[in-house]
Amino acid sequence: MREREYPCEFCDTDQPQERRLVTLTMKRGGRWYIFENVPALVCPNCGHRYYDGPMLLELERMIFEEPEKAHAVEAWAFALPIAK
Ligand SMILES: [Zn+2]
Repeated sequence: MREREYPCEFCDTDQPQERRLVTLTMKRGGRWYIFENVPALVCPNCGHRYYDGPMLLELERMIFEEPEKAHAVEAWAFALPIAK
């Protein structure tokens, strides 16, 4: 992943992005997928995460081509009412 050479797009910090391993969730076909230990650059000021584009495509590929490599987890979800 190339280091970003410009400040965060979402805030005016001049602090450098931090390289971290994060947990990323995606919903595909009505099912949630959780990816752990995903490399990301994280803004230390606002927390926005920047991912490598080809890596995200690789995660999409894993969902559709290698679902047997994932293990099921139990989860509980709440959906809050949408304010009108
Ligand atoms: Zn930021």
